[in-house]
Amino acid sequence: MEYSIGLDLGGTNLRAAAVDRNGKMLDKVQGRTQYSEGREAIIHDMVDAIRVMRDRFGKENLAGIGIGVPGFISLQDGVIKNCNNISSLENFPIRDEIGRRLETTVILENDANAAALGEKWIGAGRDVNDLVMLTLGTGVGGAIISGGKVLRGVNGMAGELGHITIVPNGNPCGCGNRGCVEKHASATAIIAMAKLLGLGDNMTAKAVYDLAINGNPKAQMIFTSMGESLGIVLAMLINAFNFPLYLVAGGVIGGWDLFAPAMLEETSRRSFTYRLTQTRVERAQLGNEAGLYGAAYLPWSEI
Ligand SMILES: [Zn+2]
Repeated sequence: MEYSIGLDLGGTNLRAAAVDRNGKMLDKVQGRTQYSEGREAIIHDMVDAIRVMRDRFGKENLAGIGIGVPGFISLQDGVIKNCNNISSLENFPIRDEIGRRLETTVILENDANAAALGEKWIGAGRDVNDLVMLTLGTGVGGAIISGGKVLRGVNGMAGELGHITIVPNGNPCGCGNRGCVEKHASATAIIAMAKLLGLGDNMTAKAVYDLAINGNPKAQMIFTSMGESLGIVLAMLINAFNFPLYLVAGGVIGGWDLFAPAMLEETSRRSFTYRLTQTRVERAQLGNEAGLYGAAYLPWSEI
């Protein structure tokens, strides 16, 4: 039985899974390393987790190995150019080093792209070949799946949708721009807005959500504002791509009922195509498993 191995380098830990051709997860392992322990420890852990899966299910049936990593990736050389969460992995030939240790080739992909591929394979996008996904977390991850494959662009940096400008002179962003959507519609943005409105310092997005559903007007305003920001971006994307499906993912979609009405209203106001067609804007379905499935799907998606 053919299977592949996916590895997801997540926000706090890494996971690897063996998945069969139908999307059934056969087994899963978690890494032991803290990212603060540095590059060698992380790479050792990645190789180890993949080896455990490969030893368990055998080399002869292995279709390939896919790895999802956070940050900007240069696909030609398999290097992570910019990774805020794990800076020790920046500018190091991680793909080739892991391939060397495993004595095989591995496919490297941006984690947001991997997650969208997972949704396309067995999640909310399984009935379409073209979709865009926005993942709301500490930032806003973006991915474009076109014709069933990740749309990568010439350097593999396509789909960085979180850095689309929605406020010309808005909040400064780590990318050098101001007013990026991730500064106005991420979990981090919710927390920053709560602070600005005097709701409290260091709140979690969930705490702001709880205030909002209990009727706090400032907290509700935050979700409305976030919805409007997302609507602006969705309208642009719908006008640009005319795809059938746009997915919103990430833990923040727990607050869907609070931000979706403003989001869809804004999308409708700004996109002729949205108003005239059956374009769907929906929640992703696989949660934090999406990246793991998508990484595993990488060897098959490129055939
Ligand atoms: Zn930015």
